[in-house]
Amino acid sequence: MKIIKENVSNLHALDRRSFLHAAAGACATAPLTPLYLQLASNTNGSLTKEERDRMTPAQVIDELKKGNERFRSGKMLKRDYLAEQKTSAAGQYPAAVVLGCIDSRVPAEIVFDTGIGDAFIARVAGNVVNDDLLGSMEFGCAAAGAKVVLVLGHTACGAVKGAIDDVVLGNLTGLLARIKPAIPATKFDGEKSSKNPAYVDAVARANIILGIADIRRRSPTLEALENKGNIKIAGGMYDLATGMVEFLS
Ligand SMILES: [Zn+2]
Repeated sequence: MKIIKENVSNLHALDRRSFLHAAAGACATAPLTPLYLQLASNTNGSLTKEERDRMTPAQVIDELKKGNERFRSGKMLKRDYLAEQKTSAAGQYPAAVVLGCIDSRVPAEIVFDTGIGDAFIARVAGNVVNDDLLGSMEFGCAAAGAKVVLVLGHTACGAVKGAIDDVVLGNLTGLLARIKPAIPATKFDGEKSSKNPAYVDAVARANIILGIADIRRRSPTLEALENKGNIKIAGGMYDLATGMVEFLS
C-alpha cells in the first residue's frame, strides 16, 4: 500500500476515500498502475457491494487494524461525509459488525477510521451479548453480507468495574449479570479489585473472549457462516491511554 499511496498522492480524491475502498481495490489488483486508475475512477463515497464482496474476512480485519493505526498516529483520512451519505442512501454494504461498549471514549467509527456505510456499530455497556444484539449481528452478516463480527472491549471499563463490585442499580443489575461470568473465568495473580486497573482489564479481556464464545454458541447462523469461512468472529481490546486496538483472535 505504501507504493500505491505514493503513486496517487497527487490525487486529492484519494484523501476522501474510505480505507475500505482502498483495501478493496488493493486486493483485487496488482499494486501498480492499474490500481492507480481503478482508485481514481471511483472516489468519494461508501463501500460498494462489489468492493465489499471481494474482501475476505482476514482482509477486513487487516483494514480495521490499518484504520486504527491511522487513528492513533493522527493520519486519519479526510472524508467527504456528504458524498458518503449520498452514495450510501440507496443501499449499504458494510464490511464489519462491531459490538462495542457505550463508553464515550470508544467510538468505533473513529478509532477504526471508517466512514458512513463501512461498518455496523452496536454499542451497549460492557459490550455484552444478548438476543437482540445477536439478531443485529445476524442481520449484519447473514442478510447484509458483512464479513467480520468484532467484539470490542476496552481498558478501564466502568461496566466491568460495576460487575466486579456487584453494583445493584435498576436495569443495570441485569446487564452486569451478563458480564459476571467473566470474573471467575479470569486468571489473575494479584489484587482482585475494581481499584486494580490490571485486574479490571483482565476481566474485560475474559468478557470479550466469553462474548465471542457466546456468539458462536447462541447463533448457529453466525457459527455456520464462520465455519464456511464467510465471516470471522474476532475480539479487540481498545486501550484508552494509547488509542490502540489489540486484536485478541
Ligand atoms: Zn466500557
